[in-house]
Amino acid sequence: MLAFSPAAERMFGFKAEDIIGENVSLLMPSPLAEKHDSFLQKYLLTGQKNIIGIGREVTARKKNGTLFPVELSVGVITRHGTHLFTGFLRDLTAHRISENQIAELQSELIQLARHSAMGELATTLAHELNQPLTAIANYTLVTRKLVADLGTNQQTKALLDLLDKSAQQAQRAGEIIRSIRTFVKHHETRFRWENLEDAVREAVKIATIGTGNRPIDVQINKPGPVPDICMDRIQIQQVVANLVRNAVDAVSAQDTERIIRIDITRHGTRSVIVRVLDNGPGLAVDVEKTLFEPFNTSKTDGVGVGLAISKTIITSHNGDIRGRNRQAGGAEFYFILPIDSKAEDVSS
Ligand code: ADP
Repeated sequence: MLAFSPAAERMFGFKAEDIIGENVSLLMPSPLAEKHDSFLQKYLLTGQKNIIGIGREVTARKKNGTLFPVELSVGVITRHGTHLFTGFLRDLTAHRISENQIAELQSELIQLARHSAMGELATTLAHELNQPLTAIANYTLVTRKLVADLGTNQQTKALLDLLDKSAQQAQRAGEIIRSIRTFVKHHETRFRWENLEDAVREAVKIATIGTGNRPIDVQINKPGPVPDICMDRIQIQQVVANLVRNAVDAVSAQDTERIIRIDITRHGTRSVIVRVLDNGPGLAVDVEKTLFEPFNTSKTDGVGVGLAISKTIITSHNGDIRGRNRQAGGAEFYFILPIDSKAEDVSS
């Protein structure tokens, strides 16, 4: 190395005077460090470029041995038959941390979505299945009685045995359903005092991931101060993510400008209101009346549980959630959250 900038000194923890004159492979982890000289040799012989002029993400090594991600691009200057290489590095550590945080939060949200969706499904299924199961149990009981009245012989004994087994299985199915219901009911919520704006911003970031090829103008407004809210942060983020994701779906198809606006404002003295507005086509007539009921969807790949789950969550926070068409076109969804849903009187 012929030169080592002050920024490089900070990044690697080496002083320029200690490192100038050393091989650049000192800044690389094994096994790249060992291979570096032969890569360079190969380039000088064949002109085959591995990284020069291309740039890519690589792992670098600090003086204390810590490895960290960097974006590296290498330039080459040839003068009087000598090659001089310049490496430009950007430390990607902070970038990676926030990427990891997003991925973590996303997986937490997905888990919750599954959990809530499972709860919603389990409740519906339990309700739907209870009646036919009771009917099966009753029919089996009556048939058993009729068979028993026929008198005991080899065949009736076999029939009674089979009918007993059917009754046992119907009972077992009932118990499985009951245990699922108990499991769903006991899902623990974690109410804490949280900064609503932070929670909303994070959820919006996640819900808009992957919209880059059809850019959407996403605006988040908080005109005045909003107090901390006593809430289950992950659940409220799930609601925001659901509403924003629906808005993304709504505006994505159009070729005109795609706008989503999220307003966070105080609502009276004891609540806040979060609105999600879009300039999409608005609510379809046939879904409008039953918006928050499960399995209500107008999308070919929709499940129709997002809004039902959101309603369950907001209701468990003693809040209210609604959706309607905007006069200006597009849809508007809003939810009202009491600042402290645990307080005695939360109406405001
Ligand atoms: P899904 O998104 O799986 O269909 P949801 O419960 O989240 O389930 O939404 C139910 C339905 O409500 C959607 O299929 C859609 O018809 C309607 N909807 C929700 N949000 C919007 C919106 N922003 N614009 C237009 N329609 C919407």
